[in-house]
Amino acid sequence: KTEVEMNQASTGNESHLWNAMHKYNPDAKATVAVSGEGSWFIDEEGNDYLDGVSGLWCLNLGYGRQEVVDAAAEQMKKLSYFPLTMNHQPAIQLANKLSEMLGAEYQTFFSNSGSEANETAFKIARQYHMQTGNPGKYKFISRYRAYHGSTMGALSATAQANRRVKYDPAPPGFLHVAPPYSYRSLFSGSAEEKDLRAADEMEEMIRWEGEETVAAVIMEPFISGGGVIIPSMKYIQRVADICKKYHVLLIMDEVVAGFGRTGKMFGFKHAAGVQPDIVTMAKGLTSGYLPLGATSVKSEIYEAFKQEGKDKHLRHVSTYGGHPAACAVALKNIDIIEKENVVDRVNSLGNSKLIELHDLMNHKNVGEVRQIGFLLGLEMVEDKATKEPISEARMSEIVGACKQNGLVIGKNGDTVPGGNNVLIIAPPLTSTEEDLDFIIETVSSVIHSM
Ligand code: PMP
Repeated sequence: KTEVEMNQASTGNESHLWNAMHKYNPDAKATVAVSGEGSWFIDEEGNDYLDGVSGLWCLNLGYGRQEVVDAAAEQMKKLSYFPLTMNHQPAIQLANKLSEMLGAEYQTFFSNSGSEANETAFKIARQYHMQTGNPGKYKFISRYRAYHGSTMGALSATAQANRRVKYDPAPPGFLHVAPPYSYRSLFSGSAEEKDLRAADEMEEMIRWEGEETVAAVIMEPFISGGGVIIPSMKYIQRVADICKKYHVLLIMDEVVAGFGRTGKMFGFKHAAGVQPDIVTMAKGLTSGYLPLGATSVKSEIYEAFKQEGKDKHLRHVSTYGGHPAACAVALKNIDIIEKENVVDRVNSLGNSKLIELHDLMNHKNVGEVRQIGFLLGLEMVEDKATKEPISEARMSEIVGACKQNGLVIGKNGDTVPGGNNVLIIAPPLTSTEEDLDFIIETVSSVIHSM
């Protein structure tokens, strides 16, 4: 065997690595990435691919930014590790920076991932209610199709049947309502009216469950993993009002939307006047260069944990959470996003370039194109009148054909439980205009050749 073949055997389909999805489809050829630059990566056979989903929508700055690598290396030389049972400078600076960016005073608890950031939020929410005289408030409400993580609590808030059923029973206290999904809504009226009815339904749930039992609502501003669902901003405002009315905390999951992806620094900023009680972040916080999760909590909530006596403290520790190198990377990442006006860029190129993909609405199999900034979903249907989702096999053909042409895109949706009929395009926010043209041309020609 040649050296390349030996490497492939030890790293590709025949390796001992479990994570990679090709394990669930042993016939698919595993892609083994070796390096990346800008929006492109190279596999071990030397093929170039444009990463049209930014890894798992986290590489906001793309691959290979030397300044980010240097920030990590310098921090590791200086202080290789330190636990946040005490303090270190990069974590303090990052917590202060997040408070400044979020638009109100927030205290931040650092962890390692989006799932962990959401778990932390759930524990804080329950303990907060307990310590402010409402010990019965323990339930969490999330929306069908939402994805909030893979650990038991975050998975329980995740309301996608295909991800859940094998691992049930979920811990008690996780409830789900309809998402603001006007394309397939059971309500009638305009898109906005349908969305507002979905919010009304959430209010109904709180009333029927008893407001004295509901701790928090957790939502993404725009459902990403469940098929790119972009509600009317009035829906987000209405949910925020409902939460206030019933003294239910609003946890905004900004794991995907945060740090520029949707054309604002945070997704919730599209909805004027909305200031979540808790914001959870990961992915774009470091542009994926190192793992980091953050749970930022409004200072008035944090006050309930500051009281004298250990029993009031949050009993929650994360050995690697807020690793000094990860915090240094996050600070550098944010610095670059701000200095290079990445958010403005996403707005203008989203509206001038990626918007061209809306032309695909003319195709018989494209039911809806949904886009905000560099987050775009194409809902694929067999028939526009019946909205029957196209099959998983055809979805795989489209994704496979794009890959053959050097473009990696994703698919998700969960429209039929287990069926993914939404094509996902979420390139690095630093993609060049040529990169975006390549995405538009490749996706359009693949769909037109169907
Ligand atoms: N929330 C959302 C909205 C996500 O998309 C994800 C990951 N896809 C998570 C939470 C969980 O993040 P992680 O994989 O870092 O645990």
